[in-house]
Amino acid sequence: MSKSGMVKFMSFSSGSCGNCYYFGDGENGIVIDAGVSLRRLKRAMEENGLTLDSFGAVLVTHDHLDHIRHLGSYCKRLHKPVYTTGILHRSLATHSFTSDHIASCRHVLPGDGAAHVCGMEVRYFVVPHDATQTVGYAISYKGHKFVIMTDLGRMTDEAVEYARQADTVVLESNYDMDMLMGGPYTYELKMRIIQGNGHLSNDECASAIRRFWHPGLKNIFLCHLSENNNTPELAYRCSLDALRDAGAEKGTVSLRCLPRTCPSGFFTL
Ligand SMILES: [Zn+2]
Ligand SMILES: [Zn+2]
Repeated sequence: MSKSGMVKFMSFSSGSCGNCYYFGDGENGIVIDAGVSLRRLKRAMEENGLTLDSFGAVLVTHDHLDHIRHLGSYCKRLHKPVYTTGILHRSLATHSFTSDHIASCRHVLPGDGAAHVCGMEVRYFVVPHDATQTVGYAISYKGHKFVIMTDLGRMTDEAVEYARQADTVVLESNYDMDMLMGGPYTYELKMRIIQGNGHLSNDECASAIRRFWHPGLKNIFLCHLSENNNTPELAYRCSLDALRDAGAEKGTVSLRCLPRTCPSGFFTL
């Protein structure tokens, strides 16, 4: 396998209805989160020239159902290793959706340094969100540096530091503040989303981009857009303005919103 080469990214679903992503070269890869059924995953992979053999492990970001609903069935049917932190594995071991099948797939990531997963270097960093624990991942493979952080209440210095070294960043742009505040959610739910352990707004996502943009940044994928409190146009516009403010020359960063309920198709990174 060559040291540098083509790597692909694909989203199978992104948002409160389910989250699941693929990162790899088509033959070797990792699936991040298990929020779509195995049947949907298999079909979407096959429609894009992959099979269930195109990945060798699953990474888990946190234990909310839109990220782990189908993890138990992945374990039961595929027997692939599931990598996450010790804290999250303890939660998954007792969670009703995963407890029956996860024990034999359990692989705990080291707290410092990189783990080697499917020939990739994988590091995690903790982000603020109202799950048992929530992590983002920084993955190095074939000369590419890929960072994913979905579901975070606010950006941390550590997360910015990882994103500053990445050529591809997948980042939550959950809600537009005016749409959320003027929308149908209860006051309690609005506050849960806004506070520092909830979700990242378009504006917060944009200020993060202003902080981490660097000339080596090639791709930004906006993920976990709210169905009720956001539109792809608002999220896109907000981040595009941030790129311009940061000094990114037009056309040097490809910025995309990931679809909420359908597969995105492959992006070559
Ligand atoms: Zn989520
Ligand atoms: Zn969550």
